[in-house]
Amino acid sequence: MRTVTGPTGHVVVVGAGLAGLSAALHLAGRGRRVTVVERDPGPGGRTGRVVTGGYHLDTGPTVLTMPSILADVFAAAGADLADHLQLTRLDPAYTARFADGSVLRVHADEERMTDAVRAFAGPDEAAGYRRLREWLTRLYAAEFDRFVAANIDSPLGLLSTDLARLAALGGFRRLDRKIGTFLRDERLKRVFTFQALYAGESPMRALALYAVISYLDTVGGVYFPEGGMAAVPRAMAAVAEAAGVEFRYGEAVTALERRGARITAVRTTGGRTPCDAVVLTTEPHESYRLLGRAPRRPIPLRPAPSAVVLHTGGPGDWPVGHHTISFGRGWASTFRELITEGSPMSDPSLLITRPTATDPGLAPAGRQLFSILAPVPNLRRGPRDWDAEAEPYAKEILDRVRADLLPGFEPEAWHVLGPNDWARRGMVAGTPFSYAHSFVQTGPFRPRNLPPGTENVVLAGGGTVPGVGVPTVLLSGRLAADRITGEPGR
Ligand SMILES: Cc1cc2nc3c(=O)[nH]c(=O)nc-3n(C[C@H](O)[C@H](O)[C@H](O)COP(=O)(O)OP(=O)(O)OC[C@H]3O[C@@H](n4cnc5c(N)ncnc54)[C@H](O)[C@@H]3O)c2cc1C
Repeated sequence: MRTVTGPTGHVVVVGAGLAGLSAALHLAGRGRRVTVVERDPGPGGRTGRVVTGGYHLDTGPTVLTMPSILADVFAAAGADLADHLQLTRLDPAYTARFADGSVLRVHADEERMTDAVRAFAGPDEAAGYRRLREWLTRLYAAEFDRFVAANIDSPLGLLSTDLARLAALGGFRRLDRKIGTFLRDERLKRVFTFQALYAGESPMRALALYAVISYLDTVGGVYFPEGGMAAVPRAMAAVAEAAGVEFRYGEAVTALERRGARITAVRTTGGRTPCDAVVLTTEPHESYRLLGRAPRRPIPLRPAPSAVVLHTGGPGDWPVGHHTISFGRGWASTFRELITEGSPMSDPSLLITRPTATDPGLAPAGRQLFSILAPVPNLRRGPRDWDAEAEPYAKEILDRVRADLLPGFEPEAWHVLGPNDWARRGMVAGTPFSYAHSFVQTGPFRPRNLPPGTENVVLAGGGTVPGVGVPTVLLSGRLAADRITGEPGR
């Protein structure tokens, strides 16, 4: 594995999102002096928190998978995750609601899920689910450690028996077709393929390799921390500080000082910090701007779709689980609209989250908190005036959800985020989900974490390897640390 060259005693990490915090904890645990520079007043980045009228809104991720990776990050700095975060495993992981009125509770537990599928779609589908689960487990074992959680120096490094194993498992077929070899029920197929959208792809175009994301939530399970998702970066920052990491909040990095192929200091709105090495978790285009280098890529990268997210709260009580996926009638058409045509979904599929189902403390007494995430095209594929349109769109999606799930709900807290808000934060094409994980933008074909032309800088975060999402950006922080120190124990 290639690493940076020269001294690495003092590392500056730019960004205190999950990727930067992970890098900082791994580096501090390996004896490096670490300074984290963050433009915001506190940690979290996209894993953000807004407090309004006694409601504590998580403005970023809501579906937490693979807590073992989070535990590894804490352990890297000598801490025990359980001492810092109380995680609840959600059961069901999701509730899936379909346009025909049918409902399926998706359990990560095999027996419970087999029973649920049998009751929902009959014994043949239940048997198909078991075979699918076994296949997902084998796919995960063949793929995750070797291709997702590893630094890969060149595509040639992949020509191995591992790749042959993935091919033998059908990993290079189309996702929807492969899942269709296990399940016939169209509704069930959606439950195991919608995750392609997390990767910015449609199940019809995505390779079956991406079913590894379905493994993470439907087999590995979905978790929620007490205090909400924002508790995760806060706990990480507290452990990092205890491990000696210095945080400089409220300072934006404006330039990197270069001597030849080395960055010698990081300049911020608050001053100048000399360094031996740098981890950049800024958006890739911003990282390249700071480096004064253009990425070498013949074809521009394709950004993932964006989202409008409504956070709302109010009095009342509804028997709604923590996560509900409300599938619209359309399916192929929905992805076509979002990804190819650049128009909002004509028959929306929505992710509805009620964090107060698990932690009532996130809202005032007797109140419920909801977030409703509606995927929308990114600004490059479907430019729109979201400053004018996000509010009416949010009202429209709330009306749908109210009719279906929340009769009589009267909002008293209201916070809408849309593509223009992500764009103002500097995110490519107004999407918080970075570049899509198409085959040509994944693994060795994703922007590398060792940018060419600079000897002591490593990239981390959703725009580089392995990609977007909480577990993957946590891994990107570890992979960046490995590029600086070499893999511990090797
Ligand atoms: C609405 C939404 C829903 C999501 N849902 C899920 C989900 O359910 N499950 C899941 O796994 N993932 C989800 N994600 C994705 C996940 O949240 C992200 O992939 C992850 O949080 C990104 O972390 P990061 O550290 O790469 O980036 P960021 O969190 O953006 O961190 C980068 C940091 O760098 C700072 N920064 C930028 N420029 C500068 C500068 N010049 N100087 C100093 N600091 C700078 C930023 O302020 C920021 O704090 C969701 C994201 C969003 C927004």
